[in-house]
Amino acid sequence: MRKLTREEKFMRSAIKAAKRGLTEGEVPIGAVIVYEDKVVARGYNRRAKLQLASAHAEMMAIDKACKKFGSWRLPEGCELYVTLEPCPMCMGASLNARVDKLYFGAYEQKGRSLTSALAEANLLNHKTEVVGGVLQEECAALLSGFFISMRQKQKEEKERQKQNEENLEEKEI
Ligand SMILES: [Zn+2]
Repeated sequence: MRKLTREEKFMRSAIKAAKRGLTEGEVPIGAVIVYEDKVVARGYNRRAKLQLASAHAEMMAIDKACKKFGSWRLPEGCELYVTLEPCPMCMGASLNARVDKLYFGAYEQKGRSLTSALAEANLLNHKTEVVGGVLQEECAALLSGFFISMRQKQKEEKERQKQNEENLEEKEI
């Protein structure tokens, strides 16, 4: 097997975080913050568990890193790795926290991201360099696997309900 690049190694850490979310029934998206070649904060999507619209993986990781450094402005050279292209909220948070480089895995398919536009807009007088497609297939497979099994579960649940209703009808007759 070929040796992983530095970027792929850190993306693997983000994938590991995503899988932790998966065990808790969340959409598997994971993120890590890297500073001086070390993972300093991890986060995974916890939207279902916390019922918070802001509980995205990137937000959790950025919040943890800010707490760790005791500053909303992360030190120069911080990088964010996330398994899926960030949404506008998370891209905004990366810029606000002054993340210098952002690596993401899978591309957002439905054009719901403004990643490049926000990165280049220089709204906060800060530019974040963005690199997409790191371990893209692995990151995308994690998500599509989750949605396939979720649809399967929904289908089974529907069939179970239908069966129960039929049984009930039979009894009534
Ligand atoms: Zn987000």
